[in-house]
Amino acid sequence: MLKQPPKQQPQQPPFSLNKANYYTNDADWHYQSATQFKGFMACEAAELAQLKGEWEPQRDPTALLVGNYLHSYFESPAAHQEFIDEHQEIMATTGKNRGQPKAPYQQADKMIEALASDETFNRLYQGEKEAIVTGTIGGVEWMGKLDCLADNHKYFVDLKTTQDIYKKYWVPDNSAYGSFIEAYRYPLQMAVYQELIRQQYGANASPLIVAVSKQDPPDKAIVSIPQELLDYWLHRIEDEQPRIEAVKNGEIEPKRCGRCEYCRATKKLTGITDLYALEVG
Ligand SMILES: [Zn+2]
Repeated sequence: MLKQPPKQQPQQPPFSLNKANYYTNDADWHYQSATQFKGFMACEAAELAQLKGEWEPQRDPTALLVGNYLHSYFESPAAHQEFIDEHQEIMATTGKNRGQPKAPYQQADKMIEALASDETFNRLYQGEKEAIVTGTIGGVEWMGKLDCLADNHKYFVDLKTTQDIYKKYWVPDNSAYGSFIEAYRYPLQMAVYQELIRQQYGANASPLIVAVSKQDPPDKAIVSIPQELLDYWLHRIEDEQPRIEAVKNGEIEPKRCGRCEYCRATKKLTGITDLYALEVG
């Protein structure tokens, strides 16, 4: 008797990364990224729970929107208009700003103006905007999205908003105080972008961070990163990645940092800590 042919599993179409799906959970499962990697370095349990859709951090939606509002302006006039049209909550419907952008967006407009009116910035910020780059680091597929990649591929620019460019932060990586750039591990992100550009275009591009502060009036600076620091981060990623991938693939249990929002939300008391065993700092 003829056997029924085995039922074909419906073929999953290969994942094709683009601007519409870049910030999705699907993309995060297919690719590693600087944001995801930094998340795993900070707390494996929290990052994995987020990837699995089991938990969402409570973010200040305005802070995120303000950043996107500024980025969309420098992407293109059409992208900025589309962003405003899609986010009616930007406009005040009551109070003294009625019919105008709410206060945080008026502040963002000042930050935009501080850059848009600057000749050096305008000369610098020329090239492909929101350029997606992909490549392989330590055998793992990575993705990155560049704010602006110069047409000659000699440099790329990342816009960063911050409270105060000169504010002092504790940088655990250095066990010392440093700038917001080190505190947020932006050199890791820039090292990844530089490597992905090298793989995709065969060019050695230098990262430039254009920092703009939320002060009134806003401060601004163009910041470079020493190549040895970029090299350090690429090596550190290669060192730490096998464990992170094993956690992501469910091969080993994620470690809990014990202190973050996720760990606090899911904490159970299991004993008593001696006063001098409380790790402060
Ligand atoms: Zn944690």
